[in-house]
Amino acid sequence: MFETLQPLPQDPILQLMQTFREDNRPDKVDLGIGVYKDDAGNTPIMAAVHEAERRLLEGETTKSYVGPAGSTGFNSAMAELILGSNSPLVRDGRVSVIQTPGGCGALRMAAEFLRLCKADTKVWVSTPTWANHLPLLGGAGLTIREYPYLNPETLQVDFGAMLETLERADAGDVVLLHGCCHNPSGADLSLAQWQEVTSLIQRKGLLPFVDMAYQGLGEGLDADAAGLRHLASAVPEMLIAGSCSKNFGLYRERTGALALVSETATVNAAATSQLLSVIRSHYSMPPAHGASIVETILGDDDLRAQWQQELNGMCERILHLRHAFAGALSSFGDFEFIARQRGMFSFLGISPEQVGRLRKEHGIYMLESSRVNVAGLNDHVLPQVASALREVLG
Ligand code: PMP
Repeated sequence: MFETLQPLPQDPILQLMQTFREDNRPDKVDLGIGVYKDDAGNTPIMAAVHEAERRLLEGETTKSYVGPAGSTGFNSAMAELILGSNSPLVRDGRVSVIQTPGGCGALRMAAEFLRLCKADTKVWVSTPTWANHLPLLGGAGLTIREYPYLNPETLQVDFGAMLETLERADAGDVVLLHGCCHNPSGADLSLAQWQEVTSLIQRKGLLPFVDMAYQGLGEGLDADAAGLRHLASAVPEMLIAGSCSKNFGLYRERTGALALVSETATVNAAATSQLLSVIRSHYSMPPAHGASIVETILGDDDLRAQWQQELNGMCERILHLRHAFAGALSSFGDFEFIARQRGMFSFLGISPEQVGRLRKEHGIYMLESSRVNVAGLNDHVLPQVASALREVLG
């Protein structure tokens, strides 16, 4: 059976990481990989996470099974984090939150669930979108359609084109929206634009699905969720994929959540039972450790405050770097959009040849699409990156 299989080419991002590791220039700069980095270029364990782990190690009494929905304490803490405290959806029993193996687990289980609801479900994704959305959603059998999102000339949201295309979607189609910190572009919808999209979704009977992978890294925990919360307050049904990979730095612990919003509590109970059965047939139940960490942090006033402070520090560092980067490039081009965008990523809008020259001649690494991870910069390397870019742009 296996002899017929051909090896696949290496993933371009992993390939880039390998080339970076093998590059022995001391002043090389990694703007490629999509994880948060501190000033020293590390992706540290947050102090609040360390402390929660210490408490867990001391207090844990069993490793017995938890169940397909994961921890109820984690799930209600995530409902509050994403939907806000005192959400009427929670009060009215219209939402269930299920612990998943990362945001990826939430995306895939939502896709499997959607296919169960309707075998020929179409899902509209932004152009561009996070590359993994395509296999995660398409792999479950959903038909992928694209709506224009980023204008490649201005590197800003082409909102008119987005609405015009979504007008052509059919009732029951799913619209995938990035909750904040759009990956890969950093270009987010304003609250007014969220309101317009909400109206369109309501009028056309579309099903919104929000991928919330970076809450707290754009402008703050509540500000980043404002669009999503407006949408959730207005529509009868909705799906939300949450992730604790970035805002708790729990990447490898595979910690995420899937929220299922229904029109009534009765519908929600039935739909949730179906979702849990889908989960049971895939991975049975999620891993516990990361979710226990999050539950411990969010359930303790001091730890929660400490975590928020650390997260705010990360968010502010990114915002500072965005402004400093745009400023450093301003003498030879209009890169003001970098300061206006949010989260870790932006496209520089340069050609693959220029990206290649930055790598070969200057040891500066980014994706071929010119997507950079702003968190990979620091005040020390900024002038070096700016002068390399000036040279390459000629
Ligand atoms: N959605 C988007 C847009 C992402 O960028 C990521 C992480 N790169 C995820 C979801 C899911 O991440 P994880 O499965 O690690 O939580």
